[in-house]
Amino acid sequence: MILRSALLARFDWLEHGFGTRHAPVTQDQMASLKQIHSAIVLDASLPGCVGEGDALVTAQSSLAVSVRTADCYPILLADSRTRIVAAVHAGWRGTTAGIVRTAITAMAAMGSVTEDIYAAIGPGIGRCCFEVGEEVARRFGLDGRGNIDLAAANRALLMETGVPEANIDVLGGCTRCDAVRFHSFRRDQQRAGRMISYIRAV
Ligand SMILES: [Zn+2]
Repeated sequence: MILRSALLARFDWLEHGFGTRHAPVTQDQMASLKQIHSAIVLDASLPGCVGEGDALVTAQSSLAVSVRTADCYPILLADSRTRIVAAVHAGWRGTTAGIVRTAITAMAAMGSVTEDIYAAIGPGIGRCCFEVGEEVARRFGLDGRGNIDLAAANRALLMETGVPEANIDVLGGCTRCDAVRFHSFRRDQQRAGRMISYIRAV
């Protein structure tokens, strides 16, 4: 089972998917990353591991860019005009470091205009399950320990960069609550698998 965004599915030149624990997706023919919870965005031109970072951007048609997640959020970006695409891995560290903003900046440097960018935020750990301590909570503007909504935080970052609200799709679903569909690091710890999300212009 692969989840798709109805918003991105509108584009017939675009292929994308958010893997679940029942998805036969491999990264073999895709550009991938050694993910390190950073705000580093890399430009991909070939399949295989591009290096250490947490977002991949490409202007190359037929090349899929991909990320692996289990609670962190996969975010897929596509420019409807230039057909530049990006895949982002955003946990709380990447979110506070503004990785999705850095990915948009990288797309802009390649010729994108933010009004043309469409974004789909895939399934990750929901606010229901993402309780954090005081130190992390403070980075999200809370006074004490509390629950963080990473999907909402990334949606806000996208809107701050100028992506129109109507161009942002939040798929929803909590990876920790829904053990039938999703892997979750918080729930399964070291036994947790990873889900692969990808996007490419065909
Ligand atoms: Zn939950």
